[in-house]
Amino acid sequence: MDMSTPALLENYVAGRWVAGDGERTALTDPVTGDTLAFVSSAGLDLDAAFAFARDTAGPALRALSYGERAQRLSQIVATLQANRDDYYAIATANSGTVATDSAVDIDGAIYTLSTYAKLGASLGDAHTLLDGATVPLAKDASFAVRHVFRPTPGVALFINAFNFPSWGLWEKAAGALLAGVPVIVKPATSTAWLTQRMVADVVAAGILPPGSLSVICGSAAGLLDRIGPFDVVSFTGSADTAATLRAHPAFTERSARINVEADSLNSAILLPDAAPGTAAFDQFVREVAREMTVKSGQKCTAIRRAMVPVEHFDAAATAIAERLAKTVVGNPRNETVKMGSLVSAAQKRAVLDGIAHLQAEAETLYDGNRDAVFVDANVNSACVAPVLLGLRDGAAGKRVHDTEVFGPVATLVGYRDIDEAVMLAKRGQGSLVVSLYSNDAVAMRAPALALADAHGRVHAVDPSVAKTQTGHGNVMPQSLHGGPGRAGGGEELGGLRALRFYQVRSAVQGPAALVEALTQDAVELPTS
Ligand code: NAP
Repeated sequence: MDMSTPALLENYVAGRWVAGDGERTALTDPVTGDTLAFVSSAGLDLDAAFAFARDTAGPALRALSYGERAQRLSQIVATLQANRDDYYAIATANSGTVATDSAVDIDGAIYTLSTYAKLGASLGDAHTLLDGATVPLAKDASFAVRHVFRPTPGVALFINAFNFPSWGLWEKAAGALLAGVPVIVKPATSTAWLTQRMVADVVAAGILPPGSLSVICGSAAGLLDRIGPFDVVSFTGSADTAATLRAHPAFTERSARINVEADSLNSAILLPDAAPGTAAFDQFVREVAREMTVKSGQKCTAIRRAMVPVEHFDAAATAIAERLAKTVVGNPRNETVKMGSLVSAAQKRAVLDGIAHLQAEAETLYDGNRDAVFVDANVNSACVAPVLLGLRDGAAGKRVHDTEVFGPVATLVGYRDIDEAVMLAKRGQGSLVVSLYSNDAVAMRAPALALADAHGRVHAVDPSVAKTQTGHGNVMPQSLHGGPGRAGGGEELGGLRALRFYQVRSAVQGPAALVEALTQDAVELPTS
């Protein structure tokens, strides 16, 4: 793939490619500082973009059955697989990620899409989903009700974060397209290239009805103004931006639905039985170090707070630091490098500021930046080495429980007993994921249930699942992704549960014969 001449990436709206005509924003290589491409969304006819998706693509998508739309997902998988090498090259250049980290984004997306292709195939020829059984409303059952799901007759707008330009698009689009709802995606500007290229490949392959998938690169200005009452918006990004979006009339006046996936102070908890020298202790240490360094810690699900019984604090600090010290940081093009850079110079500044903010109350247990030698990357690159902070008395902290530093940074937090560990995890005010480590599977039952009301996912690990567990930070399409409270209150994935956001539920009540007739061309929505 030729990357030598930075091009203006076009937007795909109303079924055609259009170049923005205003000020261009440059996308850069975070390691070399080179300009890679430009984007602009200025001057687009957004009214036409939304109308075409809503009025032309929507009906064409909904004319297909669930099974037929699932087949289209399989075709998208084949198209993405055919162009995988180019996606890796774009990720290396624009996101600064090593191949194994690019895989989390690119192959994670392909796996998620193929999972939905399989799940969707199980819905066969159906055009309607049923929600529960028929319930009589009259003593003689002549009048009854049945709940149905129908695809919302609008557009799904995705406003995405910079850290998952591939997975962030497809984990949402899988559910929307399967449901029969056209998609307009606005990727985060700094890494928009990969999203734009994937959309271009899928459009070129002619898989979907025209206008089913649009991409707008650059500013989000004007997008929410076009959101109508039957449209849905899925936002992934910071809590601050989410708060701005939620106040928009699209939601406050027109009652469009919004799903928010925001910041999260995820925890990993070493249970009291998992003393140093036991297998569960080693699993915990491995996972904390891995989560800090995968994608340079730029994962919404990454472990930010690693909680340990205070008597194991020093042993855990030493063991995690030993692992972090082996992390070779630098230019992802060098094969010896294990961790690439952050996504931009701006993110590097934000991470360094965040570390300083936490250091006001936490000690520094390991700082790979002290004598850092970044391989094939200079001090101007966006490279940051891992930093482990520590707070022996977890209850005394404030900042570590409410500040998400979006980089290779975590805080080791001491706790006195498991009730205090649960309480400290909940000081995150609602998180995407918490993980538990014990040598005794059943001992994790009580904390798992105590934590479930504040976490979208509880990931429990003991030595029996050392080889099979899917990882604290890996989002599996079969499991719910999202979290209450501060994490945004959103829900995504979770198998076919994902369809619900894109569908309208209605109670159809009438004569028993009508209610029975609703089952034609319909299937009960399974929960997995
Ligand atoms: P961000 O600054 O909030 O930006 C997110 C998206 O919103 C970008 O596309 C951005 O566009 C757009 N945006 C910014 N201001 C806007 C406005 N006023 N109106 C409409 N759109 C606007 O977040 P980020 O820095 O890209 O992402 C990092 C954050 O995302 C982290 O806090 C992380 O925890 C969170 N995250 C959460 C999940 C999850 O699933 N829960 C996943 C990934 C990331 P521009 O890029 O053009 O500014």
